[in-house]
Amino acid sequence: SPEAVPPERTAEAALRPRRLDEFVGQQVVREQLSLVLDAASGRGRSPEHMLLSGPPGLGKTTLAMIIAAELSAALRITSGPAIQHAGDLAAILSSLDEGEVLFIDEIHRLARPAEEMLYIAMEDFRVDVVVGKGVGATSIPLELPPFTVVGATTRAGLLPAPLRDRFGFIGHLDFYGTEELHEVVRRSAERLEVELEEHAAREIASRSRGTPRIANRLLRRVRDWAQVRGSGRLDLEAAREALQVYEVDARGLDRLDRAVLSALCGRFAGGPVGLSTLAVAVGEETETVETMVEPYLVREGFLLRTPRGRAAAPAAWEHLGLEPPEGSVG
Ligand code: ATP
Repeated sequence: SPEAVPPERTAEAALRPRRLDEFVGQQVVREQLSLVLDAASGRGRSPEHMLLSGPPGLGKTTLAMIIAAELSAALRITSGPAIQHAGDLAAILSSLDEGEVLFIDEIHRLARPAEEMLYIAMEDFRVDVVVGKGVGATSIPLELPPFTVVGATTRAGLLPAPLRDRFGFIGHLDFYGTEELHEVVRRSAERLEVELEEHAAREIASRSRGTPRIANRLLRRVRDWAQVRGSGRLDLEAAREALQVYEVDARGLDRLDRAVLSALCGRFAGGPVGLSTLAVAVGEETETVETMVEPYLVREGFLLRTPRGRAAAPAAWEHLGLEPPEGSVG
């Protein structure tokens, strides 16, 4: 029901590009995908299963929706954690219509029995439905019509090889450049029907952690600031003031990014320190630090992954205005 969808999600959905040519950036993945989709359409067949990997907020769900739209196919959405038992997956698979796209978000979090059922369904288009219980249980094979699985994962490395091998296409999404985010923000402002000044657009783009979801979120917060505290104009002042209120710093790091760097440099003298110890120090789950925080800090050269754990790079000390101790890893 619409009430069940959090407002932030609804606001996000309104800004989603609907077709491949509206999808900004990720040129390599876009070109590869468009080939796969055009070839399948030309043959009048469902395309092979596709896996999209990359950090959160870079457009995996958006691409899955675009894939279905480009194929004019119905889209079924589920996620690894939502499938508690293999029976849940069997129910979804056995109700798929021909040509449907089944999107499985966080596919690396599927439980093992569901994962095994999925391999078979992806390869042989068959699902074994178990009828009855105990010794009297029998398994009835059910033929499935052709369909396409689109899996999304923030942790491609966690996907067991047999599952990974069943995808005919694997696309890796990487962080966006400032120019691409500028384009995302510009298009979103158009959709929101707000006038966004060029300097403000650049400021938002350069402080969005390479992530369209964050760029769109910051744009909405800048719009709030302009409306409530500013002149209504989305100008550079509104952008800077709003980003300060929301604790986004000049490099685009947020409170949690800085907490991780501060713990690393302060409590652990620059490391190396184990990921789980670092996560406990900032009061977060290990997975949150690993999937949401670390990739960007590594990519921006603030954090190093070493065989003995995570370590602060010179840029981290500099960003926090601290002197690295003698002999630190960074
Ligand atoms: P998660 O795995 O956390 O769900 P995701 O990778 O699936 O993240 P999406 O939900 O697809 O990310 O994208 C987040 C938002 O960012 C979308 O609402 C969309 O508006 C915007 N977005 C993502 N990629 C693009 C893009 N390439 N061009 C324009 N907007 C984009």
